[in-house]
Amino acid sequence: MKAMAYRLVRTALEAQHCTWKQGKGDHEKWYCPCGKHQTVITQARIVSPGVIRSVIAQLPCLPEGWLK
Ligand SMILES: [Zn+2]
Repeated sequence: MKAMAYRLVRTALEAQHCTWKQGKGDHEKWYCPCGKHQTVITQARIVSPGVIRSVIAQLPCLPEGWLK
């Protein structure tokens, strides 16, 4: 897993019909379309590999390979 540009992560989430709300500070809460899962992304130019991994793990209802 590599670091990714934030805008690409956001585009991929939106392509899966995920929605988001502003969380605390620079955190965005993202919700999957099934409504059972959520994850947090820190707004930054680059999203670290650790965050990418946790986003994928926390949104297990999305199709395999949705983010790469
Ligand atoms: Zn879900």
